[in-house]
Amino acid sequence: MISNLGKKLSRTRENLKARFDELVKSGKTRDDILDELGESLILADVGWHTTEKIIEHIREKSKKSDSFLAIKDLLDKEIAKILSEFHCGPNLNHPPCVIVLVGVNGGGKTTSLAKLGYRYKQEGKTILMVAADTFRAAAQEQLSIWGKRLNIPILRGQYGADPASVVFDAIQSFKSKPHDFLMVDTAGRIHTNVNLMNELEKIKRVISREIEGAPQEVLLVLDASIGQNALIQAKEFLKFSGLTGVFLTKLDGTAKGGSVISIVDELKLPIKFVGTGEGAEDLIDFSPREFVKALLS
Ligand code: GDP
Repeated sequence: MISNLGKKLSRTRENLKARFDELVKSGKTRDDILDELGESLILADVGWHTTEKIIEHIREKSKKSDSFLAIKDLLDKEIAKILSEFHCGPNLNHPPCVIVLVGVNGGGKTTSLAKLGYRYKQEGKTILMVAADTFRAAAQEQLSIWGKRLNIPILRGQYGADPASVVFDAIQSFKSKPHDFLMVDTAGRIHTNVNLMNELEKIKRVISREIEGAPQEVLLVLDASIGQNALIQAKEFLKFSGLTGVFLTKLDGTAKGGSVISIVDELKLPIKFVGTGEGAEDLIDFSPREFVKALLS
């Protein structure tokens, strides 16, 4: 993961590194270093709230005479601590499992579902997917294209049908010919927020009623390349009760990789998967320790 993620995070890392290199040479005192460090974190899109928290913790733990390298060591530890606090891996080891992806349109839900399908199919698992966004023909079409490409069966409902009833029908197929994974793509019309959240609650209720212990994962798909705006979008989805974690997309090539830290800090949800490109294979499991290495070393 480190070398792959290291390449994808190179823009964020190089911006940080350029500033860190200057600080090493500058011979500045701790308080000046901390001011500049705070600025660097804001520029990497860590966000005000989380940056302040990090800087204050470092201030408490360091001595006034500490060098930049001692402070950088505390920074690594502080970020690792934030990322580890809620961390847990995907709860998908005991099929049959149901995975639901939610999030605003354009964030990468359909592509991410395809990545999960590809991953588990490679592991020899049987998969059924359902396109539960019944108002966006393009979304259903896009999932069907992925289905053909990956040779995974896709179920879709009639235009305008109740998404929860489409999911109900999919569950009956899932049960009648047992598969390992049912993967559900949902709508992301954020402007009809209340309806959307009710719709998601209903989908979740249907799944829990029909399959004991399911859904195992309900992942909020967030686009890391929009940095702090991803957090604003995410907060809307916290009104929906069932989230189990985050699937962070488009971490490749962004200069806003620092947003990952505030996403975990503020949403208090684990990041379970990271998308690093548009291909089916561009998927990695999130590891806090390795993320810190890829970002800061
Ligand atoms: P949806 O509307 O939430 O289902 O989003 P889509 O799956 O249609 O994705 C929107 C766009 O983001 C598409 O052009 C995808 O190829 C692209 N995309 C999705 N995930 C990633 C990723 O991890 N990296 C990059 N670079 N692009 C991605």
